[in-house]
Amino acid sequence: MCGPPAVTTVNNKTVSVCTSFKNLGPSQGAVILIHEELHTLGLTEKPGYPDAAMDSSQITQLVMDYCGG
Ligand SMILES: [Zn+2]
Repeated sequence: MCGPPAVTTVNNKTVSVCTSFKNLGPSQGAVILIHEELHTLGLTEKPGYPDAAMDSSQITQLVMDYCGG
């Protein structure tokens, strides 16, 4: 059983994609991949990193604000 459609950890070079990813539309898929890419580049996220500036939904909203979606 998969959780989120795509997942990585901070500073990891690999984003793992779940089979549920194929059910996303191209815009939603792109937003999720960019969100995960920000983690690969070092962006932390609450609650895993309590000092992080944003939680998961705030990061996704940021990507949508900048990139559309
Ligand atoms: Zn995230």
